[in-house]
Amino acid sequence: MEKYEFVTNTPDETGSFSYRLAQRLSPGDVITLEGDLGAGKTTFTKGLAKGLGITRTVNSPTFTIIKEYKGSLPLYHMDVYRLEHSDEDLGFDEYFNGEGVTVVEWAHLIKDQLPQDRLTIKIEHQGDMKRKITVTPIGERYQHLCEELFSE
Ligand code: ADP
Ligand code: MG
Repeated sequence: MEKYEFVTNTPDETGSFSYRLAQRLSPGDVITLEGDLGAGKTTFTKGLAKGLGITRTVNSPTFTIIKEYKGSLPLYHMDVYRLEHSDEDLGFDEYFNGEGVTVVEWAHLIKDQLPQDRLTIKIEHQGDMKRKITVTPIGERYQHLCEELFSE
C-alpha cells in the first residue's frame, strides 16, 4: 500500500497540513488518527476544522465520544479512547455515511466498525516538537486525494 511520510517541527506545521487536506474533503470522508497521548491527533483535528471554516474551539471530546461542528461541511469529531475495545454497535455508520467529514481519534479501538475505505494517519513523537506523520490512503478515492495533495 502506498504511503506518504513527512516530519513536522511545530504544532502549526501539523495544523497547516490538515488545513490543506480539509480543502479537498467531501461529504462522507473518514479520517482515522493513530498516535500516543500527546502525539498531536487533536492538534491535527483543530487545523482540519479551521480548514472547514469552523470557528468554534475544537477540544478532545474525551467524555462525549462524538462532537459535531458546523462548517463548510459538518465535522464529526470522535475520540473513542474511553470505549476501549468495543464490539457494540453505537451507530457510527450514520456519521461515516453522513453529510459531513468524520475524524476518529484512537480508531483501532473500533476497527471492526470502520468503513473499508478511509484515510489513515499515524502521528509519532520524534522529539519535543518533532512528529513523523504517515498518511496511508485506503481505497481509490483517498489514493487519488493523496496524489493531488502531495503534488501541490
Ligand atoms: P493527542 O490528541 O494526540 O493526544 P494533542 O494534539 O492533544 O495530542 O496534543 C499534542 C501536543 O503536542 C500539543 O500540546 C501540541 O502543541 C504539541 N506539539 C508539539 N509539537 C507538535 C507537532 N509538530 N505537531 C503536533 N503537535 C505538537
Ligand atoms: Mg486528542
